[in-house]
Amino acid sequence: MMKIYEKLNDVTNTKWNKKPEDCTNHEIYYAMLEMTNKLCRDLPKPQGERKLYYFSAEFLVGKLLSNNLLALGIFEETEKVLESMGKKLSEIEEYEPEPSLGNGGLGRLAACFLDSIAALGLNGDGVGLNYHYGLFRQRFVNNNQQENPDPWIENESWLEDTGVSFEVPFGGFTQKAIMKDILVPGAGSKVANRLHLFDVEEPKEFENGGIDFDKNDISHCLTSFLYPDDRYEDGKLLRVYQQYFMVSAGAQLILKELEDNGFSFENISKHVVIQINDTHPSMVIPELIRLLVEKGLTMDKAVEEVSKTCAYTNHTILAEALEKWPISYIEKVAPQIVPIIKELDARARKVTSDNSVEIIHDGWLVNMAHMDMHFGFSVNGVAYLHTEILKNTELNNFYKLYPEKFNNKTNGITFRRWLQVCNQDLSELITEYIGDSWKNDAEDLKKLMDYSEDEEFLNKLLEVKHKNKIRLKEQLLKTSGVEIDENSIYDIQVKRLHEYKRQQMNLLYVIYKYIKIKNGEIPKRPITVIFGAKAAPAYDMAKNIIHLILCMQSLIENDPSVNKWLKVVMIENYNVTWAQSLIPACDISEQISLASKEASGTGNMKFMANGGITLGTMDGANVEIAQLVGEDNIYTFGKSSDEVIELYKNSSYRAVDFYHKPELEYLVDFIVSPELLSIGNPQMLSALWRNIKYEDYFKALLDTEEYIKVREKAYEDYEDRISWAKKMTANIANSGYFSSDRTISEYNKDIWKLK
Ligand SMILES: *Cc1c(COP(=O)(O)O)cnc(C)c1O
Repeated sequence: MMKIYEKLNDVTNTKWNKKPEDCTNHEIYYAMLEMTNKLCRDLPKPQGERKLYYFSAEFLVGKLLSNNLLALGIFEETEKVLESMGKKLSEIEEYEPEPSLGNGGLGRLAACFLDSIAALGLNGDGVGLNYHYGLFRQRFVNNNQQENPDPWIENESWLEDTGVSFEVPFGGFTQKAIMKDILVPGAGSKVANRLHLFDVEEPKEFENGGIDFDKNDISHCLTSFLYPDDRYEDGKLLRVYQQYFMVSAGAQLILKELEDNGFSFENISKHVVIQINDTHPSMVIPELIRLLVEKGLTMDKAVEEVSKTCAYTNHTILAEALEKWPISYIEKVAPQIVPIIKELDARARKVTSDNSVEIIHDGWLVNMAHMDMHFGFSVNGVAYLHTEILKNTELNNFYKLYPEKFNNKTNGITFRRWLQVCNQDLSELITEYIGDSWKNDAEDLKKLMDYSEDEEFLNKLLEVKHKNKIRLKEQLLKTSGVEIDENSIYDIQVKRLHEYKRQQMNLLYVIYKYIKIKNGEIPKRPITVIFGAKAAPAYDMAKNIIHLILCMQSLIENDPSVNKWLKVVMIENYNVTWAQSLIPACDISEQISLASKEASGTGNMKFMANGGITLGTMDGANVEIAQLVGEDNIYTFGKSSDEVIELYKNSSYRAVDFYHKPELEYLVDFIVSPELLSIGNPQMLSALWRNIKYEDYFKALLDTEEYIKVREKAYEDYEDRISWAKKMTANIANSGYFSSDRTISEYNKDIWKLK
């Protein structure tokens, strides 16, 4: 026993001269924060000759209290102590702000990875930036997204001062980088790692209002926001400042730790491995070479060592996301690394005469991913299909050059947060039937298949889902006044807003259903369609899609002939906290990206583990989900990735031909119907309508008809509740493969080799 009450009492007594039971919930939150952080601080760091540094622009960690209590092994005891005081952990947690250090899947992956690295007791820290106002906090005003700063750092927070700082040399000035840490306790491993977040000394304070700011005020605004608006040059430059700030401070930290451990810089690749999470941290390669040369290594030796130290993860094949920076920007931000980038470009040109793999294009544009692939020892994709596409299509020229560097690491999620913490009732049910070994090894969830025909188990499973649906209903009512029907089907699509993810196709189904119901074709059961998504502030089409979602929500809400049967709910400010209550309540998980475009997805895995049935295309990790659960337990549709890649190659898809099909035309035209135009903004709706009709770059119309059919079939099957519960069981039981503990063991075995 940890004697939690005594520990809590020590804190509240010192802080406020009170007993815990006399504290408000808000005070208890601060007391628990302090107590938990102290326990984490007392854990040793993992030891080892070799250490991983996971560099990432995003770490979407979510709230940390429950997660850290679980990792420390005191979750249940703490709940009991709180209960004895008439308090509930879930109510205490409401006072915890969610750190806004990420945007979507990529950042959440980095957070799951840190959790698993610590749980496996591996010696590995995260390196990133301490954004004070996050991406933005989303509000809906007049059926549109409004962006506000998202302040999350309070006087007392998970951030710890370290006293460590580095001078980052920018062109014309130096900027001090202060290192703050978030402790990462490992579940069961009795060690804690660190997430190092670099920050400026005097960050600018933002009041309520918009997210516009002076992008030239580098020294105060460098860590204000993640992904500052990069439509204009000053915004682009600021991103380069951020990236160099992160990697220079991170590289200096690495050298300091080498020195502290008495290791020589010559042997850096023996003691250090750097995982470059997408291209944002790519400048760590030239920066580390620069610093090693400064320490006395020859250029040849420095290049050789760094190439054996750095490994690159590719997250997307979308061209817009593979960063290319004008060399003039780097010249302005960090002139000292320009000669090194030129040197690397020259060396790469000696390897091959193939210009398509050059680092500096046309003498002025630096391709960051190309630098990673030439001067890193590993290139990995994030799901089987994605890695195959990289090898055979997108990065084929690199694959031919360096076949040995390419490897797949199918993404994963931490089942501690995404099952144990977020779905306690399901966790208890699972444990009641198969014991709790699954908490250490998620593959053990397979034992649930012994009960896939057990009606008692299946009924209990349905009851748990129903309870979670009621919980979500109550939360929505409390936070937004929206009332949903717990007996309806919860059909959920939550993820960043992007045309390739095809929220617009989901909307075409909603329109289809709306018109059907208007015409008197009532569904067997009401349907609740839930969306949650942030649109990048400069991405107009994404904002138009949000606008249409909100207009449909309003149209249906105010139509008494439809609203008993169909409801659209758009969650405001979708984040990890929302995900943790939406996912356990989900019946149908929408994973409908255009095949070949979603590298992996991780939302799909979270839903699967919580008994949500996937309705999806054969894209990303959906392919592996389908393989694991079998075709009876997933709803797939749509053109294959091969077919889609072929369509792009021949430029042979014409949206307008599909638009003119009678099954589709009236659905698309509804976007500019008098009903919608009277609710919404005609410019935005027409722009969306025109885009889908004439352009539809991500080919929503290609798959819409089949999508509607398969979705209807899923709703029909839902009515056989026992057979549906069998599908849920197959999904939960086979989800263990997607544990990030498995993913991290593979990274360690094939790439990091830490122990
Ligand atoms: C898991 C997660 C994501 C990623 O979702 P995808 O469907 O894989 O894009 C994005 N945002 C949050 C808050 C998440 O928890």
